[in-house]
Amino acid sequence: MSRAWNFSAGPAALPEAVLKRAQAEMLDWNGTGASVMELSHRGKPFMQLAAAAEQRLRQLLAIPSNYKVLFLQGGATQHFAQIPMNLAPEGGSADYIVTGVFSKKAVSEAAFHVDARVAATSEATDFLTLPPRAGWQLNPEASYVHYTPNETIRGLEFHEIPDVGEVPLVADMSSNILGAPLDVSRFGLIYAGAQKNIGPSGLVLMIVRDDLLARPPRSIARILRYAEQAANDSMLNTPNTWGWYVAGLTFEWIEGQGGLAAMGERNARKSAMVYDAIDGSDGFYRNDVERAARSRMNVSFVLHDSALDSVFLAESEAAGFIGLKGHKAVGGMRASLYNAVSQPAVEALVQFMRDFAARHG
Ligand code: PMP
Repeated sequence: MSRAWNFSAGPAALPEAVLKRAQAEMLDWNGTGASVMELSHRGKPFMQLAAAAEQRLRQLLAIPSNYKVLFLQGGATQHFAQIPMNLAPEGGSADYIVTGVFSKKAVSEAAFHVDARVAATSEATDFLTLPPRAGWQLNPEASYVHYTPNETIRGLEFHEIPDVGEVPLVADMSSNILGAPLDVSRFGLIYAGAQKNIGPSGLVLMIVRDDLLARPPRSIARILRYAEQAANDSMLNTPNTWGWYVAGLTFEWIEGQGGLAAMGERNARKSAMVYDAIDGSDGFYRNDVERAARSRMNVSFVLHDSALDSVFLAESEAAGFIGLKGHKAVGGMRASLYNAVSQPAVEALVQFMRDFAARHG
């Protein structure tokens, strides 16, 4: 039994060392005689694990002390709805930058709870570009500005954090968190579903500035309030203990690999290799995303003849690759290159792409 070359968009490849460690600790974690999944979240062993995982993340990202770290549930999608409930007053307004499927979904879910204004969108280019910052119609009275630094489906990434003045910046970093160093202090709130760069699905990581938690609470259930979660160490109810544990192992793994600077360099190198294979294929493969906005995490490409799509997928699968099929919304192929996707995996992919083009060109 060998492991596949896994390029899935999410849930996605996890570091093999993390999986092996979880496997080794499955029956007896830390001398407890039980797996992490079988232990109370209120017991000292798990509480220590939880605090240690948070501490590791704080170190990796150099999170300032005026930010809370929350380990939540519901997927990023639930927080599309929950963020306006927590950050905007009844009848308030928020600005959204729409650059793809997920930011579009974010604004439509938010619209149930806030006057969600599209301050900029690149829908006219079918989300192949980023709307230039100069054209954003920002409302200085907005409760926050929401954007998606990396749109997973097209593979479209902001390579700089936009300046939005005094209004808090909220970022859905589901598909690029921990992929490179990040200046957390530029944000009011960062959130991410765990199932790409962190661990199993069912866990949502949130980093939120204290002053946003102190905003007057709306009349929403306690369980939906971030401030309550923060005051209760994300344990208002039973958290995703297994997800929290694997996240901690992943943070430790990143640390051992040299931290986020090393991740950033590695991811830049990996993505450049795939883009080079696409750009150097004489049109056999194509990526139509604006050059300056190409994602380091998700590289999408189409074949010059879509009749070859099924052949590419069948042959790549036979060669040991999984997860290369593009999202149904855009078709074609997509190679997701999260932290756990190794350089040898990318070399194997690039070699396969060149061979395939030579055979079918
Ligand atoms: N935002 C982004 C950027 C995503 O890639 C995804 C999908 N993984 C989501 C939100 C939705 O996440 P979830 O399925 O965890 O709700």
